[in-house]
Amino acid sequence: MSEQANELTGTRRRVLVVGGVAGGASCAARLRRVDESVEIVMFDRGPYVSFANCGLPYYVGNVISDERKLLVASREMFHDRFNIEVHTDTEVTGIDRNARTVMVREMVTGNTRTERYDALVLSPGAAPIRPPLPGVDLPGVFAVRSIPDSRRIRSWISDRRAKSAVVVGGGFIGLEMVENLIHRELSTAILEKLPQVMPPLDAEMAVPLMEHLLAKGVELHLGDGLARIENSATGGLIVVAESGARLPADLVILAIGVRPETALAKDAGLEIGPRGGVVVDGEMRASDPHIWAVGDVVEVQDVLTGQETVLPLAGPANRQGRIAAESIAGRATHFRGVQATAVVGVLGLTVASTGASEKGLRRAGITSFQKVYLHPGHHAGYYPGAHAIHLKLLFSVPDGRVLGAQAVGLEGVEKRIDVIAAAIQFNGTVHDLAEAELCYAPQFGAAKDPVNLAGMLAENVLNGDMPVADWLELGRTDALLVDVRDPEEFAGGHLPNAINLPLSQLRSRYAELPKDRELWICCAVGQRAYYASRFLTQHGYRSRNLSGGYTTYKALKAAGMTP
Ligand code: FAD
Repeated sequence: MSEQANELTGTRRRVLVVGGVAGGASCAARLRRVDESVEIVMFDRGPYVSFANCGLPYYVGNVISDERKLLVASREMFHDRFNIEVHTDTEVTGIDRNARTVMVREMVTGNTRTERYDALVLSPGAAPIRPPLPGVDLPGVFAVRSIPDSRRIRSWISDRRAKSAVVVGGGFIGLEMVENLIHRELSTAILEKLPQVMPPLDAEMAVPLMEHLLAKGVELHLGDGLARIENSATGGLIVVAESGARLPADLVILAIGVRPETALAKDAGLEIGPRGGVVVDGEMRASDPHIWAVGDVVEVQDVLTGQETVLPLAGPANRQGRIAAESIAGRATHFRGVQATAVVGVLGLTVASTGASEKGLRRAGITSFQKVYLHPGHHAGYYPGAHAIHLKLLFSVPDGRVLGAQAVGLEGVEKRIDVIAAAIQFNGTVHDLAEAELCYAPQFGAAKDPVNLAGMLAENVLNGDMPVADWLELGRTDALLVDVRDPEEFAGGHLPNAINLPLSQLRSRYAELPKDRELWICCAVGQRAYYASRFLTQHGYRSRNLSGGYTTYKALKAAGMTP
């Protein structure tokens, strides 16, 4: 008890938590489970604590129709179960680090008071970015962060009988909003500054997603930023893009990203990092021995690139809250950093990724890596209903350590990415993926699961069994491009300047191929090209596989990455 007491006054140790949702609530509840002796007080300026922000888009979409389902825990529950005092509608407005007090303001009465702390936890989250552009504050323009936000959007849709929407920003939250607005039968357009949706993905991996959105009737305006929003003569809104395009809409969702809410930390003189988040150590302690910070407000290390990053996701926020609690309770603990494992469902399609992307590696100056593409079925092809998973695996050379993976498909996508995520966490290699013993029955997977196949392909690259050609060199290479698909497949579309020599004829006709030129082999998804290049290599040819075949080529071409 003595070490739990305030060292100055001998009173009960007092822990204040600012922000009572993902990181803050996790921290408070964990702290109580490990320490019954401390006093825990949690403040949130909103009307609720511990609500499901991740569920908000589905409440707008009426997939979740009962608002109460979003309330994971109540003030009363925190009090009764955990003896945690919760003050909602109460904003923390300042920190006096010397006096170890915070200033709080009751939102309803405007009353202010100071509260003493021995330990302070900041989990204020991140605020949606509202660019300083004309019209962003017009009625009918919304961001989605809180239950009242989603309630307002729901009312706007039903009161105005809204028929159309523009979502500005094609990231996670934007896409989830698109799915739910379509669910509400609004015709929906996305305006996105980048030439692709889902910025964390490499551009070619976003292509199946963009095709899916178009097939579902979503209008895409890519490579075009928001210039302003105007009222239209008919009572609606017009989103004006930088290109001058005018997109009419009954409502507009701003989903162009979030910014860590660092005002409190900055004013208190806590260190802020280059990515704009609060700097913390491995125990989630900020640059003050009595203050911890967790969740969207902090900067953490990306375990793949070693660089600082901000990653506004619920999993890290929850885990960091738990770690801060352990640290406050005096237990040994450590946050390992993040690897950006994420998933989004969009109108039936699943998009998931973990670890570094190719562009992320290049941005970090990491060049000693290789990649493979594959498009296996999500379960055995002979069992009805198999759907392709488009998968890209990045691994370091020469040690084969798994660096990242991205996958897109209708089913079984997140399960593969989760396996690869765990492999990354344990410093796994492509050999581990090849060896992974995973669930298999025809309706669930294949005897060689897509994860195994990805590992095996990568092993083939590393051990020289299947040298891969760089797709990005396609327009510059002197190699002869040999397409080993059947003639009718070739006739349906092929690489520029490729010749067709079907795999079934290769053994009888291979002598037609030149030995003094490298051969780059292509098929539909990479499998026949692998068989062909193994045969040719053993007959004295220099050959490389165009990984992922024509399916990958089409995605790269659509992303503007090949001729
Ligand atoms: P929050 O959970 O945002 O909590 C911060 C709280 O602090 C807020 O309630 C705020 O009112 C309060 N606060 C701020 N400043 C003060 C102050 N000065 N005084 C008192 N209170 C204050 N992540 C995923 O991993 N998967 C998803 O599918 C997903 N979907 C999402 C969908 C939406 C619409 C949104 C908005 C987010 C989604 N996220 C998702 C992100 C995830 O919700 C956040 O990463 C996570 O909630 C961050 O936790 P936090 O504790 O840092 O902040």
